[in-house]
Amino acid sequence: MKFGGSSVADAERIRRCAGVVRAQQEQHDVVTVVSAMGGVTDMLLELADAAGAGNRSVKYTLFAEIRKRHETAAIELGASEKIDALLTNLETLVAGIVAVGELTPRSRDAVVSHGEQLSAILTAAALEGVAMTGQEVGIVTDENYGEAEPLMNLSLYQIRETLEPLLARKERIVVTGFLAATQHGVTSTIGRGGSDYTATLLGAAIKADEIWICSDVDGLMTADPRNVSNARLLDQITFAESIEMGQFGAKSMHPRALEPAAEHKIPVRVRSSFNTDCAGTLVTDFAPTSQTMRSVLLLKNVSLINVAGAAMVGRPGTAARVFAALAEVDVNVQMISQTVSEAGISLVVADSQLPRARAALEGQLLRTNAAKRIEVNEDVAVVAAVGSGMRGAVGVAARIFGALSANNINIDAIAQGSSELSVCLVVGSDDGPGAVRAIHDEFGLGQSPT
Ligand code: ASP
Ligand code: MG
Repeated sequence: MKFGGSSVADAERIRRCAGVVRAQQEQHDVVTVVSAMGGVTDMLLELADAAGAGNRSVKYTLFAEIRKRHETAAIELGASEKIDALLTNLETLVAGIVAVGELTPRSRDAVVSHGEQLSAILTAAALEGVAMTGQEVGIVTDENYGEAEPLMNLSLYQIRETLEPLLARKERIVVTGFLAATQHGVTSTIGRGGSDYTATLLGAAIKADEIWICSDVDGLMTADPRNVSNARLLDQITFAESIEMGQFGAKSMHPRALEPAAEHKIPVRVRSSFNTDCAGTLVTDFAPTSQTMRSVLLLKNVSLINVAGAAMVGRPGTAARVFAALAEVDVNVQMISQTVSEAGISLVVADSQLPRARAALEGQLLRTNAAKRIEVNEDVAVVAAVGSGMRGAVGVAARIFGALSANNINIDAIAQGSSELSVCLVVGSDDGPGAVRAIHDEFGLGQSPT
């Protein structure tokens, strides 16, 4: 069972999580994984950056706030001694970074790792169990600090060796999400949102019956209920569908979080931490329904870039240059579309990355005449219709386009991967919510599947 940051945000919630775990432990063996208290990872990152810039006053602002939140919870949960020791550790580390005036990826991970270490100790206190770090449990990664990749076979083997005897003794184990260590024993982190990934790694290693991702949502939905009034909770979806949905920000999930579960065919249940009456959404290997469409998502704050110009036609390597230019400035391309005439390539990027993307493309392509124009439309949204039942189904696109045209919505660009798991449409940002409602309606997603 993995609990997200908002579920362990204070002592009272941590106690409630402990109660939920205890109730399950009457019938099952449980390993608990926790994120840092809500907001703490962001604060630690800010603290690390400020320290790296030589800012001494962070000690009195950010660090003091982090200290206060954890001390308050520790007093209530009776874990003051251990929490104080960790906070002192963090303080010393930050003072060292301030003194050197330089922050390396490795020291940033050391700072940020305190969030999960603190919340694991608090949760273990509430549960009267033992807290373990990702390193102690056996997760080993490469040295790509901040986005470290677990060495899969070694990690799975070590986790199993560590956890199985503890479970046999009925220990209540609380593991820090997000944290691991390199082969040299240096603390690393596995990427933002990585606690879900930790949970699936542990679940795969011990061949769990289910992996529960518990947070403040009841599960995955057919659409955002704030936009679509008859949006429904999905009872069951496939790994492929949920990964597709995750990419579109249905729940900001670590991109590889479900891989270990999918590979080892271990069902994942996305559910609420506290609304335990609701069974949530079960993510499994197969789709139990014949429904074509499962979920319609909206991606806001994106821009459409159109790289146009006849110089591109029939000239191999243009696409490579476009993507190389973007990769060089760390721009993540969220959607791509090109027609067979090759007269243009359309790309969708996050608004925050647009200035970088634009400068790179103009610099690399216009200057060398590889393209004639770079056109940008900042006022767009991406609508993604997801469902594995679309594969091979005839007429899905016609129904989508029909629904949009009936609502007078113009489509700026379209993309569908050959996996046919989703259709993505770029529309004007004002049309986004209406486009989602129109498709949701057309496919009857508000009614329970038969
Ligand atoms: N605390 C980490 C983050 O905020 C990991 C997680 O919450 O999954 O990204
Ligand atoms: Mg999180």
